[in-house]
Amino acid sequence: MDDHPALASPLNALDYDPAPESTAVAHLRESYGLFVDGAFTAPEASEQFATLNPATGRSLATVAHGTVDDVDRAVAAARRAFPAWSTRPGSERAKYLFRIARLIQERSRELAVVETLDNGKPIRETRDIDIPLAAAHFFYYAGWADKLEHAGFGPAPRPIGVAGQIIPWNFPLLMAAWKLAPALAAGNTCVLKPAETTPLSALVLADIIQQAELPPGVVNIVTGDGRTGSALVEHPDVDKIAFTGSTEVGRMIQRRAAAAGKHLTLELGGKGANIVFEDAPVDEMVEGIIDGIFFNQGHVCCAGSRLLVQESVADEVVRRLMRRVDQLRVGDPLDKNTDVGAINSAAQLARIRELADAGEAEGAERLTSACALPSEGFWFPPTVFTNVAQSHRIAREEIFGPVLSVLTFRTPAEAVAKANDTTYGLACGVWSEKGSRTLWVAERLRAGVVWANTYNKFDPTSPFGGVRESGFGREGGRHGLEAYLDV
Ligand code: NAD
Repeated sequence: MDDHPALASPLNALDYDPAPESTAVAHLRESYGLFVDGAFTAPEASEQFATLNPATGRSLATVAHGTVDDVDRAVAAARRAFPAWSTRPGSERAKYLFRIARLIQERSRELAVVETLDNGKPIRETRDIDIPLAAAHFFYYAGWADKLEHAGFGPAPRPIGVAGQIIPWNFPLLMAAWKLAPALAAGNTCVLKPAETTPLSALVLADIIQQAELPPGVVNIVTGDGRTGSALVEHPDVDKIAFTGSTEVGRMIQRRAAAAGKHLTLELGGKGANIVFEDAPVDEMVEGIIDGIFFNQGHVCCAGSRLLVQESVADEVVRRLMRRVDQLRVGDPLDKNTDVGAINSAAQLARIRELADAGEAEGAERLTSACALPSEGFWFPPTVFTNVAQSHRIAREEIFGPVLSVLTFRTPAEAVAKANDTTYGLACGVWSEKGSRTLWVAERLRAGVVWANTYNKFDPTSPFGGVRESGFGREGGRHGLEAYLDV
């Protein structure tokens, strides 16, 4: 393995010709209105803001900034639509969800390109992961719509009412699907607020919802920033808030929702530990570490951003890891051979830089990919820190970027103690050939998800969510219905 020519030096790695995906399928409009009561409002009717392509820093389109009045109109439309939608037979609601799922599949290329343009993530990921998984969520929950009485929540579970759903920018369409599909299957009506830096795929979804002839008002999509989200949280006629985003904003929303007696689910940040034992299958483990932290530029709440490696193999693991890091292709997100794309925004890039600088200042050793970065747009090279101490900021704070902190341990008990030494509790990975050890460790980890000999595996049938400061409530699987039923 060590003698493999492609591994000898990054300079010897295979070279690729450019393979850019065409943007002709994206059909972006110059400006977008809001999607309320089954129709788009005129863009001129609202204040507009630009959404940028993070790979170039240039504007893609302008979108409407939803005001308190806009949110009020959207909630009123959702309220009007609720009685008919919630009493429709489940099999009828399912037909619409199946239709949306099929339309996402039919327009998957368009959606993949739009998502890559607006988010900066590689087309390989939007094409093979984000968009297929979004369709899969609608298919999966369509199957539940007429079986709610068999879901384990009583003989006649009822929907909650109007759901206000606020999502982040890291998986824009997928997060919309995670929120909308179970809510609609359970009979709720929705007002969705996409993140301000990535509104475009939700607006294409609005177009798909129109195409699917979903009754007006069942789904409303209001673009805007935190002020728009805040208006949704404050609205007295919203019965449930589902929020995915930062722990800081989640905490604030929790206080306000509790005061108003609203149902609430929170999917927040994380600082996942990927735990590697000395007997782990080496090649798979290195790929798992790479995927755990560099997938989606590390903009992943459950990223394996802390590598806990058994001391006896630490040097060897870091050596192999860095060789692989040097082979990652960083650059044009639309190129089909790109592994790591652009950082989503200037603000996120500034945060990553600040934390990486703090890592160095606190005494960790910084190892950086030798890749060249594009001259325009927002970029950060894949980076690994060794000699990291538990007390360092890069071991404690969520960086939400392509930065891995490596720590070591000697015994399984020490690995568990270090992995749990965080305020978060979203996801962990365990790498070992020995099943009994994996189970022993998994039982003791305080995390909503534990992967064994793999990382970042998502499936609509499988519940996902956190404990402690990573939030509460589950999305996906039968458990995901509970968040939208009055149980
Ligand atoms: P963020 O909290 O800044 O924003 C998330 C959403 O909340 C955006 O739509 C934003 O406009 C809105 N918002 C901001 N302020 C608000 C307010 N005061 N009231 C209501 N809404 C408000 O988070 P972000 O930077 O966009 O996303 C990154 C964070 O999301 C990370 O911490 C990440 O871990 C987390 N995340 C968690 C999961 C999960 O499933 N646990 C999944 C994806 C992302």
